[in-house]
Amino acid sequence: MKLHAFKIRIQVFLYLTSSQPFSKGEGQEEVLSFGEDLGEVLIQQVKSNHMETILNLQQVSKTYKSGSRVLTVLDNVSFAVQAGSALSIVGPSGSGKTTLLGLCAGLDRSSSGNVELQHMQLEVLNEDQLASVRNKYVGFIFQNFQLMPTLTALENVMVPLELRGEKKVRARSMDLLDKVGLADRSHHYPAQLSGGEQQRVSIARAFANRPRILFADEPTGNLDAETSGKIVNLIFDLNKEAGTTLLLVTHNAELAARTQRIIHLKGGKIVADKPTTTTVSNI
Ligand code: ADP
Ligand code: MG
Repeated sequence: MKLHAFKIRIQVFLYLTSSQPFSKGEGQEEVLSFGEDLGEVLIQQVKSNHMETILNLQQVSKTYKSGSRVLTVLDNVSFAVQAGSALSIVGPSGSGKTTLLGLCAGLDRSSSGNVELQHMQLEVLNEDQLASVRNKYVGFIFQNFQLMPTLTALENVMVPLELRGEKKVRARSMDLLDKVGLADRSHHYPAQLSGGEQQRVSIARAFANRPRILFADEPTGNLDAETSGKIVNLIFDLNKEAGTTLLLVTHNAELAARTQRIIHLKGGKIVADKPTTTTVSNI
């Protein structure tokens, strides 16, 4: 193994065993098993995108216990997403948007109900298998970036590719950083980057494994109008060119209007789920 690949694996291990956000049971075994065969749980993939449902939630709830009280963060949420489509999730702060995205992406587990992603029921997968599904199919742009502080911008983008054992990892990662306008900051650590720059590294990393489905949690929240326009175009290019399914959480009406469908969340419930009526042309 090359030295940089080794460094990245060690850092991923240290990071996940200390302060990983969705940390339930995640640790060394999971990290080392990224890219492992999913074995019997991998139901045969449908090759064609035609009318394929890539994500299906049935009566999904998420609750947290706090002392004797139960806090219901998501309450019987059901919806299906067609492969290759783009949808927005909107709603006030605290309505459960980030929680919902985490459940859909296999980063977190529901309290009840079913989440089916890429024809796999996530509830029955163990942590290793979930990690493998994420690495194989999912890109995730976190609201709070979730970059590894001990890795440079370039190394952060390289992580998913190294874990998949891909070739030309450095060149491809540089290319992705270039696409988000950060080629000249590749050797900087997250602490040396502004919020907007960290967000762009997080976006480059989410694109790295050519995901079938991209989850983005307020992807333009920290960006100025010009950078935001460029990043949004990049995200929609991915949707158009690679057929990547998009699920965007956003407060940006213009961005939401570019997706085909908008789901409104309020108090953990879906209060509206409608096709987008406004058409906004590419910026
Ligand atoms: P949004 O992204 O729409 O702002 P979130 O999904 O982040 O909303 O949070 C929804 C609600 O769930 C909030 O009230 C939040 O405090 C609560 N919540 C989120 N994560 C946890 C947790 N780990 N423990 C307890 N409550 C949580
Ligand atoms: Mg949120």
